[in-house]
Amino acid sequence: MFHPHGKHLIAGQWVAGSDHFPSSPASGESYDFSVGRVADVNAAVEAAEAAFAAYSSTSRAERAAFLHAIADEIEARADGITAIGSQETGLPEARLQGECGRTTGQLRLFAEHILQGDYLDRRHDKALPDRVPLPRPDLRMVQRPIGPVAVFGASNFPLAFSTAGGDTAAALAAGCPVVVKGHSAHPGTGEIIAEAILAAVERCKMPAGVFSLIQGGNRQVGAALVQHPLIKAVGFTGSLGGGRALFDLCAQRPEPIPFFGELGSVNPMFIFDEALNARGDDLAKGWAGSLTMGAGQFCTNPGIAVLRAGPEADRFIDTAAAALAESPAQTMLTDGIAQAYRDGQRRMAGVEGVREVLATDSQARTATPFLYTTDAQNWLSNETLSGEVFGPLGLVVTVADMDEMRAVAHSLEGQLTCTMHLDDGDSETAAPFLPILERKAGRVLANGFPTGVEVADTMVHGGPYPASTNFGATSVGTMSIRRFLRPVCYQNIPEALLPADLRDDA
Ligand code: NAP
Repeated sequence: MFHPHGKHLIAGQWVAGSDHFPSSPASGESYDFSVGRVADVNAAVEAAEAAFAAYSSTSRAERAAFLHAIADEIEARADGITAIGSQETGLPEARLQGECGRTTGQLRLFAEHILQGDYLDRRHDKALPDRVPLPRPDLRMVQRPIGPVAVFGASNFPLAFSTAGGDTAAALAAGCPVVVKGHSAHPGTGEIIAEAILAAVERCKMPAGVFSLIQGGNRQVGAALVQHPLIKAVGFTGSLGGGRALFDLCAQRPEPIPFFGELGSVNPMFIFDEALNARGDDLAKGWAGSLTMGAGQFCTNPGIAVLRAGPEADRFIDTAAAALAESPAQTMLTDGIAQAYRDGQRRMAGVEGVREVLATDSQARTATPFLYTTDAQNWLSNETLSGEVFGPLGLVVTVADMDEMRAVAHSLEGQLTCTMHLDDGDSETAAPFLPILERKAGRVLANGFPTGVEVADTMVHGGPYPASTNFGATSVGTMSIRRFLRPVCYQNIPEALLPADLRDDA
């Protein structure tokens, strides 16, 4: 069993703090962790900047080998990672084993992706010395790494989207050093992953400042990190409130920097008539399964189902309620998230015109499902009903007709996903929805459930605000690497001085 020592990792050194905070595991022993100080943040960021020149000029092959080495070192510690991860977060061991594979798979996918070189989007406008009235200079463009990146991992993916998760893998693949602000929900998991990254740094002889982990314990750490003048971008997954606070700090800096925040989403599903009539029971059961998966703690949890009022809708609601009622109480990631779930549930229950279909007894750090229903007019006039409740809570919104369903679609805020359930006979009715939904979400799906985000070249995990703070980006998939690059044009620069990726023999 892995026993954390509780120190920060700053540029290859384990550094103890003077104050400590205890971890709050769902089960097992609690350990003390060093509270992050502004001095620790400064030391880590300065080391990251010192490492930048060397790391950003490594070859793509060297960085790919480094990403593979991190994956290997994580695999070498897989049992310890699963054990502490499961204790800290309450997520089942099987889930964490799967997530470990997703983490290493992601690192290796990014390694292979940068080797191909397409992500550099290299362009060359050759010199036209004889052009009249003016000659054209030689112009070349390539994407270059931006500098040290700050990463705030997700509480709900302690491996795949935390310390060595998507943001870290993307920044390292791009050629940027990383400073991670450890998530207080899984500090020991963060530590063992940092140990794996350190082993890879040493094995691949990378500069020590390429990776640091500062544990939290107070909000000063995150604020100091995003405000540090040497940090050039931030990757964040978390709440709308926390993300917005840090986004605002980034925008207020003397030099504002991009904040790539993945925040909340209710991921609405639109169920069209033919599909509802033909397979309403299956859809209701499938929805219940998706809503309760991982105690509903998925950013892509489909919290709202929109469908036409009538006997088929009533049956859908009854079937979903029966399926949800069978779901056992599940442990949530933290006491705070469990409390926020109950607060959100009470908020929804308190809205006039909302009918409680299934009420359960959610206690302490566990979550049990809730199901509510309301009509479209009530939903459209109550902002509370469109907010995310992070957990296994569903809301069915019934519409009188398709005009009302379109009104619901039009009024949505930005989402990570929107889903349509449709059969062949629904195509004509559903067609006008796609142009609406593609303006609302980063990913639009048909006949599936949005939980389960493929790590792939085509994936977009993002969307208009508040789903994310930057609608042009994704935090999942190989396109996420682009967040930590910026285009530079080189005009008449002699071949020998160009970045290696731009030379004629690259
Ligand atoms: P959170 O409270 O926003 O925390 C996220 C991280 O930011 C933590 O490291 C936290 O530090 C830090 N932080 C938050 N507010 C801060 C502030 N004002 N100043 C400095 N640092 C701050 O979110 P969470 O509890 O981890 O996650 C639950 C929420 O995440 C849910 O509401 C869900 O909607 C959202 N979520 C979104 C996605 C997505 O992909 N869009 C995925 C998963 C979860 P501490 O460690 O000290 O708390």
